[in-house]
Amino acid sequence: MAFNRISDLGDLTGKTAVVRVDLNVPMVGGVVTDDTRLQAVKPTVDAIAAAGGRTVLLAHFGRPKGKVEPEMSLKPVVPALAQVLGRAVGFYGLCEEKGSEDVIVIENTRFHPGEETNDPTLAADFAALGDVYVNDAFSAAHRAHASTEGIAKLLPSAAGETMGAELEALENALGTPKKPVVAVVGGAKVSSKLAVLENLVQQVDHLIIGGGMANTFLFAQGIDIGASLCEKDLKDTALVILDKAEKSGCVVHLPSDVVVAREFKAHAENQVKPASEVADGEMILDAGPATVEMLSEVLKNCKTLVWNGPMGAFEMEPFDMATVALAKAAAALSDAGALLTVAGGGDTVAALAHAGVKDSFTHISTAGGAFLEWMEGKELPGVAALEK
Ligand code: AMP
Repeated sequence: MAFNRISDLGDLTGKTAVVRVDLNVPMVGGVVTDDTRLQAVKPTVDAIAAAGGRTVLLAHFGRPKGKVEPEMSLKPVVPALAQVLGRAVGFYGLCEEKGSEDVIVIENTRFHPGEETNDPTLAADFAALGDVYVNDAFSAAHRAHASTEGIAKLLPSAAGETMGAELEALENALGTPKKPVVAVVGGAKVSSKLAVLENLVQQVDHLIIGGGMANTFLFAQGIDIGASLCEKDLKDTALVILDKAEKSGCVVHLPSDVVVAREFKAHAENQVKPASEVADGEMILDAGPATVEMLSEVLKNCKTLVWNGPMGAFEMEPFDMATVALAKAAAALSDAGALLTVAGGGDTVAALAHAGVKDSFTHISTAGGAFLEWMEGKELPGVAALEK
């Protein structure tokens, strides 16, 4: 998909760019505890300043549902943002008289009921704040809101630096990837990732299914999974997915050996055994070492990897073993330039950080819902609106 970048917007001297960003930072007692998302805003603000323009930032914070909720004001974020940007930052209500600062933050877009309904009047009010529009919030791109979609139709539009890098990485991973492509889909439940699995079996050459969701597939194949987390009612759905995979030439990899325990807690007494030998009362909490070795070989034969969801209950040692080992295998191939590695989703970011491979992966998306909808093959309205 071809989309404009900030450089395509031309000389911005004397102009103002309205920029949609993600300022949803974690805060404790009015203090920002992780400024990763604020750091992500800097390249775009700098690029606009370099092109001679001023910046007006639009963002939501929390879920005020169209009402003014003072505890969801963006005001406490402003000092931390100013520090990260190294610039003076003004803060104003949408209809308030603005000052002359080079960077301005507008109060929470979701204080307006028209934001989530994509009201054209609100979109026009947002558009009136500037001359061009830049979207730098991939994490909000799966929503057709006034600040993500409506406004893009009213002004010359472009993807910001962070969003542009994200879209390029995703294009390289599933749009026009180097083949063979392998996907890792793990996590707790099949039900939350059905659309992802259905799309991926048609897109990728190898699909690795891990985590609790692998249990449902093992069960569907007639394997006794004991007391493991399993969605037995999705047995037929799992079989349909396996059938679709076979018809599309996608090889599905399920664990051949597993780590079982009788208690769902860290350091629970555990045992490695073949997936076919799980006893009554035992829970599969991770994939076993033979599986990891086999999957590492699969990775070696691929050029592109897309990853969402852990291979086991990685928050509880030692059931993080398969997730960590497979992540390290991917990271080594990525470092060697042999594998393009793209991962995303909340738990996945935490799992890969836990494995210590965050810097080795080609791209890790912090977007949750937007990343999953992209893996489902859906068109994201906020991205579609930027298309050339
Ligand atoms: P998700 O949010 O769908 O990516 O799922 C992530 C969660 O799945 C993590 O909290 C893991 O602990 C959990 N999980 C992964 N594998 C298993 C398993 N075999 N049994 C129970 N929970 C699991």
